Amino acid sequence: MAGRLRIDRRELIAGATALTAVAAAGAGKAQEKPVQDKPVIDERAVLIVVDVQNDFCPGGSLAVARGDEVVPVINAIAKRFANVVLTQDWHTRGHASFASSHPGRKPFETIAMSYGPQVLWPEHCVQGTKGAEFHSGLDLPHAQTIIRKGYRRHIDSYSGFVEADRQTPTGLTGYLRERGILRAIVVGLATDFCVNWTAQDAAKAGFETLVVEDACRAIDLNGSLAKAWADMAELDIQRINASDLLG
Ligand SMILES: [Zn+2]
Repeated sequence: MAGRLRIDRRELIAGATALTAVAAAGAGKAQEKPVQDKPVIDERAVLIVVDVQNDFCPGGSLAVARGDEVVPVINAIAKRFANVVLTQDWHTRGHASFASSHPGRKPFETIAMSYGPQVLWPEHCVQGTKGAEFHSGLDLPHAQTIIRKGYRRHIDSYSGFVEADRQTPTGLTGYLRERGILRAIVVGLATDFCVNWTAQDAAKAGFETLVVEDACRAIDLNGSLAKAWADMAELDIQRINASDLLG
């Protein structure tokens, strides 16, 4: 008898959502949110793995707290994808985004660059260094492309699509469009910077875009994480969990 009385929480939520939708439609209002199905992962979807590099993981020069925890999650998710692309932060020595390139400045200060405000970082992901290498635990043998970014000395690039001057393309939009990709699922480091900017540019380029929250970790500098999620929501970027892809 106890079993018959148990109510599945997900059924309850699904039922409530459906009722809300019916009520909204009945009142002649636009439906607030459709009942969402599981994301479709087919040959038109791509997993974009953002900057899972040694310098962004514990022990690295710009370590994101618990950044390495994304590795097994991403490995598991990636098995579901026919298309996997990685981005790799890839700076010159003396790069303009490094505090050390600006006398008297410290890491995590913001300065005005020709293209707008720029957070200054510790030196990280310098071309050819161990810190710029992908985390050794990443198991993505079927990844098809690596998009390197931030390799122009005077321009940073958080996004895998467009550099920080908001004009210089990396080529990723054309690559994905030419391959018929419609849907971008974004994971990696860090949620509030390179994942956020990559996801926003994916959405602006017209891809249906989702971010897998528990396959990302954040820096959270001065409220940057909350702002990132709010900005992504404005662009209808879906915030999901790995279980939504693996279940
Ligand atoms: Zn960088």
